[in-house]
Amino acid sequence: MFNALVVNKNEEGKTSAAVEQITVDQLPEGDVTVAVEYSTVNYKDGLCVGPGGGLVRNYPHVPGIDFAGTVEASDNPNYKAGDKVVLTGWRVGEAHWGGYSQKARVKGDWLVPLPAGIEARQAMAVGTAGFTAMLAIMALEDHGLKPGNGPVLVTGAAGGVGSVATAILSNLGYEVAGVTGRPEQADYLKSLGATQIVAREELNETTKRPLEAETWAGCVDAVGGDMLARVLGQMKYGASVSAVGLAGGAGLPATVIPFLLRGVNLLGIDSVMQPYDNRLRAWERLAKDLPMDKLEAMITPATLSDLPGLGKDILKGQVKGRVVVDVN
Ligand code: NDP
Repeated sequence: MFNALVVNKNEEGKTSAAVEQITVDQLPEGDVTVAVEYSTVNYKDGLCVGPGGGLVRNYPHVPGIDFAGTVEASDNPNYKAGDKVVLTGWRVGEAHWGGYSQKARVKGDWLVPLPAGIEARQAMAVGTAGFTAMLAIMALEDHGLKPGNGPVLVTGAAGGVGSVATAILSNLGYEVAGVTGRPEQADYLKSLGATQIVAREELNETTKRPLEAETWAGCVDAVGGDMLARVLGQMKYGASVSAVGLAGGAGLPATVIPFLLRGVNLLGIDSVMQPYDNRLRAWERLAKDLPMDKLEAMITPATLSDLPGLGKDILKGQVKGRVVVDVN
């Protein structure tokens, strides 16, 4: 018997989450069983711990879209007992039971060996949010972003994606402007390397002007909606925006003018189905380019029993940086 956070749905369709004892026999099919050490809390986890947001189809359900730990048993030729591994994406924690559990059984093809220089706890401080921030920055670089091009905007800066993006960009030598709706987090963002703080109100209203002053050399956008539409019109000529999230809305009330007159690029970033080679590339970059002292400053520690509350908090945009869940 071991502990897991189990979400049940009652006959009225209402969900409730609690720590329960489960057995290995209850785990879903897979060729690798992992003794989970740490998990984390992403925006999507908030949905899956609560009513599911359309992501969870079957109950009872064990959420947790990320985990890191040690392989306990493996029928997969690429992994053996004792290997340190990390998992993000592949709809684990949504369609397949996830990491809010002391053990998880998954397809070995979904795992990535823990990169040298990153421990299980640090890997979960990164988690899907930080991994996606890295993918977003890699996409901007692949489209020509270089230090010296000008300031890079990070929206939703005090959140998970935003905090990791800010720390990496600053470490790579970029000027980073962080957009936040929480002015009290300005010092935190500056400690991660932000050189400019932009108030959310300045950017979350639409404007009738499709183009404004050319301001940003790149953007990692965790917010979407009105803010993304506004930012597109403020990008420098030929600059790119990595569209990561929808914390501010899934709509995009924009015009095509920034694409046509300024050659602006809107780059879609998906972490869930990301091919293996690029996953390895992103984790290697994280080990090299994310300063571990800054990652440490983002961490709020938690346990399995804290998760129902944290799930609600992240959906309200009230989680700062990254939560690391010690499942044991
Ligand atoms: P967090 O909740 O940690 O961060 C989101 C941040 O966005 C908040 O902290 C807040 O930052 C800001 N924010 C929240 N609500 C609003 C609003 N109404 N208007 C403007 N800003 C707002 O979540 P994550 O960092 O984990 O995820 C961010 C987004 O990225 C989510 O939408 C998530 O679903 C998406 N995502 C997508 C992935 C992909 O594969 N494409 C992978 C991971 C995440 P502040 O207080 O500083 O303003």
